[in-house]
Amino acid sequence: MNIARVWPAIDICRAEGWLDEETYHEIKPASEAVLAQFHDEAYVAALSYAQRHQTLPEALKDQFHIGRASNPIFKEVYERPATAANASLIGAKWLIEGRADTVYNPSGGTHHGRKNKANGFCFVNDPAIALDVLADEGQGTITYIDIDAHHCDGVQDWHSDNPQIQIISIHQSDLWPRTGSQDDKGGGNAHNFTLPPESGDTALKALMTDIIIPLITAHKPSYLVLQAGADGHRHDPQSKLAYSLQGYWQVIEMILAIDCPKLVLGGGGYNPYITAKAWAGIWPLITKQLSSEALANLPLSQASSHLLKQLSWHHRLGRNPPDTWFSHFGDKG
Ligand SMILES: [Zn+2]
Repeated sequence: MNIARVWPAIDICRAEGWLDEETYHEIKPASEAVLAQFHDEAYVAALSYAQRHQTLPEALKDQFHIGRASNPIFKEVYERPATAANASLIGAKWLIEGRADTVYNPSGGTHHGRKNKANGFCFVNDPAIALDVLADEGQGTITYIDIDAHHCDGVQDWHSDNPQIQIISIHQSDLWPRTGSQDDKGGGNAHNFTLPPESGDTALKALMTDIIIPLITAHKPSYLVLQAGADGHRHDPQSKLAYSLQGYWQVIEMILAIDCPKLVLGGGGYNPYITAKAWAGIWPLITKQLSSEALANLPLSQASSHLLKQLSWHHRLGRNPPDTWFSHFGDKG
């Protein structure tokens, strides 16, 4: 999956003048030794081998699901997920140390990965690693909330037997990996909410206001991890949840208003133009430079518009992208 989303989101933040460079940090990939504290050592070694040799013995492909189905071997198959994971790991540590109130890692959110195998184009499970780090700190409770269109099966299997961690997922009802039904509690502490296709903003916002925000508030989290996958958007090819960018940002704004240190991650998002805007827009919400409403009505600067137009997307929806994708942050029309 080679869709540019993270660097365009960061470059849009720069183009709009939202990014104070002192708050921006480049992170190196996590070493094999560090990743093996969380994932199985043999799996981590296989992932590293796959990058070095650009292949893997067939038996190891079968065992670890690397180079199989939705987990192809690509040039940076170790480095890219190891970098995203290190950013989430370091972000969690900074929250514990009080070095930051909120850390944003748009390259994170790979919520399908397992300790001993790749799954759903997730080779390393950075949200699960961040939750491990926060839980090890030993104090208080943690909320993980996932608004990606797909169920967070990897995070649920990893952590939902820990009463310290509340796991909440809102996802489309009939979508891969088809786990996370409303009555699926995982190991006991998972809360799954499914929405049918074409639900749109109204159903999402009602669910947040009436049920999910009170659920989080009752848990009194000391830390919160948000997986902000943008693939529930109505122009995303992978789901039919039909959210707008306005609706997406309003939900993020509700979650950001919860008073505790937060780690905010990316996740799914398969329309590069929409996802770049969605994730760029999270930063001015975190830094309180803009409200979701102001953001939704904001015209794109010429630089941001130009930057988006340079992206390529080999999908039928990208053949004739509407002008409005390049004129405003929010959805128009
Ligand atoms: Zn997804």
